[in-house]
Amino acid sequence: MIEAEGLTKFYGSLPAIRDVTFQVGKGEVVGFLGPNGAGKSTTIRILTCYMPPTIGAARIDGIDCFERSLEVRRKIGYLPENVPLYTDMPVRRFLRFAAGAKGVEAKKTHGEVERVIGVCGLENVAHRIIGHLSKGYRQRVGLAQALLNNPPVIVLDEPTIGLDPTQIVEIRKLIQELRGEHTILLSSHILPEVAQICQRVLIINKGQIIATDSPSNLTSQLQKSSRILLEVADRGPELAEAVEGMQGVQKVARRDGDRNRLVVETDRSRDLRPDIARLAIGRGLDLLEMRHVDLSLEQIFMQLVTEEAPQEETAS
Ligand code: ADP
Ligand code: MG
Repeated sequence: MIEAEGLTKFYGSLPAIRDVTFQVGKGEVVGFLGPNGAGKSTTIRILTCYMPPTIGAARIDGIDCFERSLEVRRKIGYLPENVPLYTDMPVRRFLRFAAGAKGVEAKKTHGEVERVIGVCGLENVAHRIIGHLSKGYRQRVGLAQALLNNPPVIVLDEPTIGLDPTQIVEIRKLIQELRGEHTILLSSHILPEVAQICQRVLIINKGQIIATDSPSNLTSQLQKSSRILLEVADRGPELAEAVEGMQGVQKVARRDGDRNRLVVETDRSRDLRPDIARLAIGRGLDLLEMRHVDLSLEQIFMQLVTEEAPQEETAS
């Protein structure tokens, strides 16, 4: 359904992507994963007909994106990285306008607009001005716009970037509900995000596809360790030393140079949080925070490439 064949794009003399080749089958949900600057948006803009490649070809449902872009655009719902919304328009009026621009027939416009409002949970804000909505709701309006005319292919460029955790959960849920009916390509720089939503993941780094696999294989392959963030009111170095001696702990480091804020790297085999909690309480330490952190792909790449921890200084 989506085909990229040897796509190369130069901006000036620098290649943003080189020889990018992949296919997404009908009904597949594929993640497009890579750190910032890897070339995700460039590839997506070519697939969605917003610009031609320097070399190579892109096709949607067998139709060339460059030669027959009008036909291709009708088959794609695209949520760009920075959603270009008309911020002074109310939601419903904007969606009517977008439906017209997308060639939805006049007599079907009302039904189609109400359908996407329902799918994206916008009923309560449909009369409100887009510019007055939260970022999470604005993203839903962008998604509603992409779903107009029920296109078979949905392309989402970093749909959760800049949202708060609650909004991220809601948008992910919405995307999950689209599975089955649509062929979906979703870009992200966060591995756990694509792992949750997608059946297959393409990894792009420095403009080249470097791997494609199932999320679970990639997660275990790439994510050798797991991280826990800790904060105590006081006696951080004492906690660091004790945690360092625990079985399954690979490394303990300070966060932001603060002796009471620690990052603990552990094996992925077991969740050490209960043990750490017991240890802290046993020593009479006031534990202010303890949470798991999702490794971003950037951090995983840093781990794979450098072997040393990127940001933190060593504790103790
Ligand atoms: P991603 O979406 O994965 O973060 P992009 O496709 O936006 O990556 O960018 C890939 C590379 O191309 C980066 O090095 C970026 O700086 C460069 N780039 C992107 N857009 C432009 C542009 N319009 N002009 C020049 N360079 C660009
Ligand atoms: Mg991008």
